[in-house]
Amino acid sequence: MATVILDAGHGGWDNGAMYNGRKEKDDNLKLALAVGKKLEDKGIGVDYTRTQDVYDSPLEKAKIANASGADYFVSFHRNASPDNNQYSGVQTLIYNEGDVKEKLANEINKGLENVGFDNLGISVRNNLAVLKRTNIPAVLIETGFINTDKDNLIFDENFEAIAESIADSINRVINNQASSYYYTIQVGLFRNEENAKRLANELISMGYTVKIGMVNGYYAVWVGNFKDMNQAKRIERVLQEDGYETWIIAV
Ligand SMILES: [Zn+2]
Repeated sequence: MATVILDAGHGGWDNGAMYNGRKEKDDNLKLALAVGKKLEDKGIGVDYTRTQDVYDSPLEKAKIANASGADYFVSFHRNASPDNNQYSGVQTLIYNEGDVKEKLANEINKGLENVGFDNLGISVRNNLAVLKRTNIPAVLIETGFINTDKDNLIFDENFEAIAESIADSINRVINNQASSYYYTIQVGLFRNEENAKRLANELISMGYTVKIGMVNGYYAVWVGNFKDMNQAKRIERVLQEDGYETWIIAV
């Protein structure tokens, strides 16, 4: 039986991010426990780095995970932006690209997008102890921004669906049923179709392959269609050098 260790970020004296009295450590624990219950219902073994409001350092959490004998590590966090209501969406962090953890991160992001979050894609972080020091495939989910009202509303109103979606994604990856994805570079997201078309035409005139897609009722401008994430990253860097704000998404 496959086993997953779930890590509710922060705890004890470490509240994580806070917003209007809301503490990240509480959201993280609530979601980790709910996902754990749903995984158990699917016949997957579940372990936790914490089930109560206690503190362990990220390095200690990685050690707990390594000692547990689990096959996968999933850490739960919520994002925070410098200004309130500045950003919204989910993002899943991994230590580096490739292999099953990237597949798991994509699967989780896509699932949460279906629940109603914007999908901000994968972010590579090589300096986080829970990703760096765990010796099993590890992902860290930022389930929306805790200082963005829209994301808190999605988190609270769709809580069971969010937990179910994450458990489903983990289950699919464990059973090797994850879909394969293409990567595209999202360059803009517009309420107004004309604005999306204007940006698309600008990019086409620069020689890019551009497509307009829909994300939660918004018009998204997508550049390219890549099987290989590194190739997408190379093109993304060129776009960023030209001053565009970009992120890579799986489609
Ligand atoms: Zn956190």
